[in-house]
Amino acid sequence: AVLTTERLISIENEHVAHNYHPLPIVFARAEGARVWDPEGREYLDFLSAYSAVNQGHCHPAIIAAAEAQLRKVTLTSRAFHNDQLPHWAAEMKATFGYDSVLPMNTGAEAVETAVKLSRRWGYLRKGVRPDEAVVLHARDSFHGRTLAAISMSTDPTSTDHHGPLAPGFESVPFADPDALRLALHRHKGRVVAFVVEPIQGEAGVIVPPLGYLQRCREACEEHGALLVADEVQTGIGRTGRMLASEHDEVRPHLVVLGKALGGGVYPISAVVGDDDVMGTVVPGVHGSTFGGNPLACAVSLAALRVIKDENLVHRAQVLGELWTSKITPLLTSTSLATATRGRGLLQAIELSGEAMRKAGFDAMSVCTQLKERGVLAKPTRETTIRFAPPLVISDEELCRGADVVVRTIQEFDR
Ligand code: PMP
Repeated sequence: AVLTTERLISIENEHVAHNYHPLPIVFARAEGARVWDPEGREYLDFLSAYSAVNQGHCHPAIIAAAEAQLRKVTLTSRAFHNDQLPHWAAEMKATFGYDSVLPMNTGAEAVETAVKLSRRWGYLRKGVRPDEAVVLHARDSFHGRTLAAISMSTDPTSTDHHGPLAPGFESVPFADPDALRLALHRHKGRVVAFVVEPIQGEAGVIVPPLGYLQRCREACEEHGALLVADEVQTGIGRTGRMLASEHDEVRPHLVVLGKALGGGVYPISAVVGDDDVMGTVVPGVHGSTFGGNPLACAVSLAALRVIKDENLVHRAQVLGELWTSKITPLLTSTSLATATRGRGLLQAIELSGEAMRKAGFDAMSVCTQLKERGVLAKPTRETTIRFAPPLVISDEELCRGADVVVRTIQEFDR
């Protein structure tokens, strides 16, 4: 028997740890940008599982690749070779242009991998003792939930009561290359890496001025540190470039990828880099039972090809402009929306905290109302709603969703 939305949520609430605050909608089926709940109501997905389904839900080419691989071999571990990893690695090289790739499974794991690689590189290539190595990161960043990843978080909700955190990390303000330069200088060669999101996703889609990453790269080069771009959320076409670093024409020393690398079909993440860093890896120093498994590689190969074949990087840019043209009038027609920002299809609307407090609602109330009207989005931070539809969304679907967003925010403003 098909259980109702209400029943499914109550079972979940009873038996699953409450580590999220989901909107009360159950996905029972999804295709492209559209989602259906158990009662058959249709919605537009404007979150894409935090940018993990850039290729759209259940993309037929990715599903076909998964199905074919499921019947052949799914897991070997790296104790043995498999016949998918080489094809995927070649595609990764052709796509991102780095010497080498290290496959993992989740974003946080790949971030940790990049940190470990940086420290190893610092020791082997620069002679920085691991117990003295410093990894700089930007304030308000999000890099995942493992212990090392939250050691790079400045958000108390993420870190409180999880201590002691991992040592060797220090934060600098985001979008402030001079502060980065000062910190690099102060540590006198002991900084091995600066880890940064080219656009801060969870912080509320914070877009730094053009040229920021370029200046970070220069400062890192001057002080012998690696620039590590966490493109887990911004990568794979999301911002209208394959990598968001490309907006600044920057080639980071290491790039961390995840989410849409698996097209929302299977988890896979990776660190890509050149031989100088990747060559420090030898058998036994790092790994994962599932990293580089044939199912993940087959799925990811298909996911990367969909991005290219359907020209989704360009689509993200065009659709981002369409979104902006539909949403910008909000800024003059209501005082509730105070800013809009983003690149490509990683977008946000900022709502006035004061106006919401006075009127007695919050960003979650707005998202609940959006859901009632068939558009799925979530607040990220108290006053910001993020909009990140699958890149395969049609013009018509994007405009329909944008109209709902505009109308809903205008109505809350009354
Ligand atoms: N880095 C960034 C920039 C992210 O946005 C996220 C997830 N929101 C992560 C890392 C962590 O990825 P995962 O949830 O797959 O561990």
